[in-house]
Amino acid sequence: MTKDNKKVKSEWLKEKYNEDSIVKEAYDLAFKAHEGVKRESGQPYINHCLAVAKTVSDWGLDEITISAALLHDVVEDTDYSLNQIEDQFGEKISFLVNGLTKLRGLKYTGNEKQAENMRKLVLAISKDLRVVFIKLADRLHNMQTIGPMPEETKKIKAEETYDIYAPLAYRLGMQDLSGTLRDLAFPFLYPDEYKWLIKNVDEEYKERKEYAQKVKPILEEKLKKNGIDPLQVDARAKRYSSLYKKLLRYDMDIGKIYDLVALRVIVKDIEECYSVLGAIHKDWPPMPNRIKDYIAMPKPNGYRSLHTTVFCLDDKITEIQIRTQKMHEEAELGAAAHWAYQQSKHKKENRSPVADNQELTWVRQLRNWQKNFKDPNEFMQSLKGDFFKDRIFVITPENDVIDLPSGATPVDFAYRIHSEIGDQCAGAKVNSKIVSLDYELKSGDVVEIMTQKGKKPSDSWLDFVKTSTAISHIKSSLKEKRDALKRRITEPAVVFTITAKDRKGLMEDIGKVFSKSNINISSHNATSGPFPTITVNCSSMDEDKIEKIMVKLKAIDEVQEVEYNFKR
Ligand code: MN
Repeated sequence: MTKDNKKVKSEWLKEKYNEDSIVKEAYDLAFKAHEGVKRESGQPYINHCLAVAKTVSDWGLDEITISAALLHDVVEDTDYSLNQIEDQFGEKISFLVNGLTKLRGLKYTGNEKQAENMRKLVLAISKDLRVVFIKLADRLHNMQTIGPMPEETKKIKAEETYDIYAPLAYRLGMQDLSGTLRDLAFPFLYPDEYKWLIKNVDEEYKERKEYAQKVKPILEEKLKKNGIDPLQVDARAKRYSSLYKKLLRYDMDIGKIYDLVALRVIVKDIEECYSVLGAIHKDWPPMPNRIKDYIAMPKPNGYRSLHTTVFCLDDKITEIQIRTQKMHEEAELGAAAHWAYQQSKHKKENRSPVADNQELTWVRQLRNWQKNFKDPNEFMQSLKGDFFKDRIFVITPENDVIDLPSGATPVDFAYRIHSEIGDQCAGAKVNSKIVSLDYELKSGDVVEIMTQKGKKPSDSWLDFVKTSTAISHIKSSLKEKRDALKRRITEPAVVFTITAKDRKGLMEDIGKVFSKSNINISSHNATSGPFPTITVNCSSMDEDKIEKIMVKLKAIDEVQEVEYNFKR
C-alpha cells in the first residue's frame, strides 16, 4: 500500500490540506493510533475522528481545532500519551486534547465520575472555547451513530445530550446544532411522546409545508413590488423536540402552533429587515402582540431576527422571520461563527482564544461558578438546572447585570448578591415598585432588595425559588432553626431554687458553680431578708449536668436546700 493510499480516506481533507500541513500530520497519527479498531457499527474508528474534524472545519474553525478534533480520542482510547501529543503537536493542541480526555482511574465512581469529568470539561472550556466546539461535534456524531449501542447506553447518552450539551450549544448561540441535538435525543427520552407526534403531527406538517410553498412566490412578488430583493426566502419546519415542548403549553392543540412551518426571509441589511416587515404588514395584518423585535432586543444568547405572525394567504395564521445573512449565520453557528470571524481578523496576532465578547461573559463565569460545589451531585444538578437553562438578565441598583435562570425571583437575586442578603431578605422592589418575593423577574428589571437584620428565611420560599444557591442556603438556614428548636424541646430550660442563710459572697459562690460548668444563666432573682430564696434560670442542659450542679450547689456554705424544675 502506498503512503497516500493508506492515509487519504477523506476527500475534503485531501483537497484542503497538503502533505506538510499539521492537519495531515494529526490525521496520520490518529490513523495509526486507532488502526484496526472498529466502532460499534463496524466502521473503522478513524471515520469518527474524521467526521468530528469535518464538522468543526465546516464551522470555519482553524487548523489547530481540526487537528485536535482528529486527535480527540487518541489519549483516551489508545496507548499514546498526552506528552507524545505535546511533543509532536505543541502545547495548544495538547491542551485541547487533554480537555477532551476523560479522567481515568478509580478515584471516582458512578455519578461522581460523570460530575468530575464534566467539571474538567467546564474548566477547559472556560480557558479555550475550542474545546467545546470539538466536544459538541463529537457528541453530534455520537448521537447520529448511536443506533448499534445498547439500550441503556442510548438512554444515558440521550439524557446527557438533552440536559447538558443541547443547552450548552444554545447558550453559545448555536441554535441549529442545539435543536439537532435535542431532536436526536428526543426519541430515546420520550419514546411515547415521539410516537404520538409522528402519528398526529405529520399530516399537519405536510399540509403546512405545501401551504408555505404556495405562499413563497406570492411573498417574493410582494417584496419585489416594494423594491426589496431578498437574498433568500424559504420555509423552515419546527423541530419535533421544541414542538413537543410548545404543545405542552397549548393543551396539545396543534392548531394553536402558528410557527409549525415558518417562512424565513433573508435580506442584505438591517434597514431592509424593517422594510420587509412593513411590506408584509401592508397586505397581511399582523396578530396583536406577536411582533418580536429581536434585532432591537436580542435574546440573551445573542439571537437576532424579526418575527411576526400574520393573517396570511386565505387568512391562515403564519409566522414569518426576517433577518440578514450575518444574523442567519450567527443563529446557525453562534459562538463558532464569532470565533472563526475573530480569528480571521486577528490571524497574524497570537490571539488568546478565550471568549472576549460580551455575549460570552457567562463562559468566564463558568470557571468561578464551578468552584462553589463541593458535592459532585449538587454540581451536576446545578449544571443541568440553572446554568444552562434559559437565562434572564436583571440589573442591580448599582447597574451591575446579574444573570439568572428564567423564572427566578427576588429571593434568587438576593442570594446571588450575597447569602446574608438572601437570608435577611424582607421585601423587594422591581423598577421602583414593591413586589412580592415570589414575583417572576424579567430581563431588564431593576431589582432592589430590602433587608431586615436578624430575619431568617421562610420555608415557603422553597416553593418558588429557582436557583440551587438559594435552595441550599434556605435549606441550611432552616436546618439550623430546626436544630435550635429541637434542642429547646428536648432539653428544656431549668430553674434552680436555692434557700440559704445569707452571708457575704453567697451570690458569688453560686454564680461560680454555673460559670465553671459553662452554663448560661438567663436570669436570677433573690428575695430579701436573712434567709433569701434564690432562683436561677438557666439554658437547657441534660440530666447528668443538672445532677452535678445540684451536688456543687448543696456543697456551698450556708446553702440549706436546692430544688430544680423544668421550664418550657
Ligand atoms: Mn469521540
